[in-house]
Amino acid sequence: VAGDKAGKMEALFRKYDLGSTLGTGAFSEVRLGTERANGNKYAVKIIDKSKCKGKEGMIDTEVRILQKVRHENIIQMFEMYENETKICLVMELVTGGELFDDIVKRGRYTEVDCARIIHKILLALNYLHELGIVHRDLKPENLLLSDKSRRPKIMIGDFGLSKIFNDEEVMKTACGTPGYVAPEVLKRQGYGKEVDLWSLGVITYILLCGYPPFYDQNNIELFKLIMAGNFKFDKPWWDPISETAKDFIRKSLVVNPKDRQTAVQALNHPFIASNCGFTPAKA
Ligand code: ADP
Ligand code: MG
Repeated sequence: VAGDKAGKMEALFRKYDLGSTLGTGAFSEVRLGTERANGNKYAVKIIDKSKCKGKEGMIDTEVRILQKVRHENIIQMFEMYENETKICLVMELVTGGELFDDIVKRGRYTEVDCARIIHKILLALNYLHELGIVHRDLKPENLLLSDKSRRPKIMIGDFGLSKIFNDEEVMKTACGTPGYVAPEVLKRQGYGKEVDLWSLGVITYILLCGYPPFYDQNNIELFKLIMAGNFKFDKPWWDPISETAKDFIRKSLVVNPKDRQTAVQALNHPFIASNCGFTPAKA
């Protein structure tokens, strides 16, 4: 059986030529893959199995689910290869870079631009939540732009994979960049799709003003701010921003997950509906 798995990895190298590193994340390295037969380009994500200790049995099931995901705002996964130490995922290649870098470049977004991005992320989130998939690690580094054009599509990467990583590793990354993590994750209460709506609230806040809602150099203090849901719309930066946008954020950054707005409610919030040109459905 071990030989069979090793053979699978060899098949990857037979089919693809692995080139430059496109990026690295907490769990993986992503390389450019070129299909030898036709020159088609892919992103090949190489995951270290040591990060999945205790969850090995889930990998197959999870990856099979992720391969069924088809949405224009979600990076598609095509194939999986593995050996004893690594898992390789062949994915759709995107070339526009991380949303994070675009925020840094622009400083902040107009309300219309922000709402359009959040709308697309919400459509993708709603689709995934209906399939029972939770992201858990939504942040601007995991939101990629489809291409280098003036109006690239926003694409969610990394979806659902956090499930196959062991909880210790996930907590470690959460503790590395806790700014986006929902209070219930920090409290280790067990959590569901609501966590993605919290992260989306954090992202909305950042897009509109250029800085995060929760910040402290000391992680312990930062955890306290998050768990208390303690954020402000500071003067003078937030003065020009509409009450509708602020209301959307207030309904996302709600400490109790049961009271937080869902993806469907968020899609029908006037901040999204009015900026994206559709009439909100009746609640
Ligand atoms: P991790 O799960 O370890 O955080 P990511 O999936 O976020 O890994 O990938 C790490 C980095 O690799 C991303 O931030 C991005 O820069 C790059 N990357 C990931 N997926 C793709 C892709 N499909 N196309 C192009 N670059 C990618
Ligand atoms: Mg990532």
